[in-house]
Amino acid sequence: MAFTLPPLPYATDALAPTISQQTLELHHGTHHQTYVDKANDLSGGERTNADLERVILEADGPLFNNAAQHWNHAFYWESMTPNGGGRPGGELAEALSSAFGSIDAFLEEYSTAAIEHFGSGYAWLVHDGSKLAVTHTSDADLPLQHSQHALLTIDVWEHAYYLDHQNRRPEYVSAFLARVVAWDVVAKRLAEV
Ligand code: MN
Repeated sequence: MAFTLPPLPYATDALAPTISQQTLELHHGTHHQTYVDKANDLSGGERTNADLERVILEADGPLFNNAAQHWNHAFYWESMTPNGGGRPGGELAEALSSAFGSIDAFLEEYSTAAIEHFGSGYAWLVHDGSKLAVTHTSDADLPLQHSQHALLTIDVWEHAYYLDHQNRRPEYVSAFLARVVAWDVVAKRLAEV
């Protein structure tokens, strides 16, 4: 048994042009696979995906980095869907409006966190145990490390967008929210908090 790369929940060309087939093939097939391979090497190949959160909480250094990146990427793939984007509805919309003042205010705060995060990392919507919040983390860091429940992420490492949007991170973030974010998945995660 070992950590394994989860298959993408859609075809590699399904998120184009927001995220191209080339980017998904490289990002999932080589970047994410390499985190999985390194996490296996560093843990003796005896931990599985079912152990992943425990490994993350117990590890530091290279094993933490690679295990956390395995978790972050699996969560990011599931946070997107072909023909996604637009505006959230239902109970998620009500929760966002209540927490941030309006859907637009949430989208603005989330976009700003993703665009202005300096260097490699992620922007998140989290539930911190009492309320919804927008956060951003550097490198492999993730909400689990901060006792927060992750609801949504966008990968803002350059490998996530450079082939498709070059240095225009705002264009990538805008397209992510307009076209591919899986609000139904975010709503399901919130319902499970
Ligand atoms: Mn990445």
